[in-house]
Amino acid sequence: MPELPDLLYIRKHLARVLTGRSIAAVEVKQPVLVRNMLDVPLGEALRGLSVREVEQHGPFLRVGLGGEIDIVTNLMLAGRLQHQKKGEKAEGFLCVAWMLDDGSALRLCDERKMAKLYVCRRADTDAIPRYGTQGVDILSPAFTREKFRTLVAGNSRRQVRVMINDHTVLSAIGNAYADEILFEARIHPKTFSARLSEEETDRLFVAIGSVMTWGTKKVEEAARPIHVKVREHLKVRNRRGEPCPRCGTTIRREGVRGHDTFFCPSCQPASRKLFIDWRTAGEKPPDPD
Ligand SMILES: [Zn+2]
Repeated sequence: MPELPDLLYIRKHLARVLTGRSIAAVEVKQPVLVRNMLDVPLGEALRGLSVREVEQHGPFLRVGLGGEIDIVTNLMLAGRLQHQKKGEKAEGFLCVAWMLDDGSALRLCDERKMAKLYVCRRADTDAIPRYGTQGVDILSPAFTREKFRTLVAGNSRRQVRVMINDHTVLSAIGNAYADEILFEARIHPKTFSARLSEEETDRLFVAIGSVMTWGTKKVEEAARPIHVKVREHLKVRNRRGEPCPRCGTTIRREGVRGHDTFFCPSCQPASRKLFIDWRTAGEKPPDPD
């Protein structure tokens, strides 16, 4: 799944190559991915429209076209975008392609066919599932230490790994960077938010910013084509059995509410915070999410 650093890189690249270009034709190979929210067939609606801007919104990329029309993609688990210049090799399992007026094409590929592509009027973007319900944008000035403390307090009965991974709370941290953030903050992923001290909450807040900045820089430095996922820099994610880069302890993998999480049991120790007696703690047990 492309995460925020990947999406920022893709956005920047697409803004550079697509802005000002117009759509010559649209090819839909897998209609199952496409939600056309206009009352006109896709090809007809998009032909001749030019790209005004490319924006990232949570896990979504929005390509704003002339005529107040938007193309919004959610790449989900396995979707990839490729900007294919004339003469370049096509990559992946093609689902949808837009041919542009300079002979290049933007291709959406996904062998799992789980990615989503919405075409709608700009005023209707909030009707896209999960688009309008994104939580606070972690890159925006609205994401302050105070705001984060409030969010932690409001999610006290959830495990911290689940909370920071919830896009309606924070927009948007995926599985890979959620693990990296908790590693940086030295917090066990199963810690309940209610058990975070003020100091740990602040450490987590700082880690969200620093890890995302670091990840974004690493993806930029790798300078790969946008359909290639850059993951080599990650310190704990998918590194079960490898030594922790900080202390050498073997990295572990555990399930947290259906998601794999990777962590260092020494740097992120399981403290008494994981074992709460909900009958005597004076709090309701955690939500079954
Ligand atoms: Zn360690």
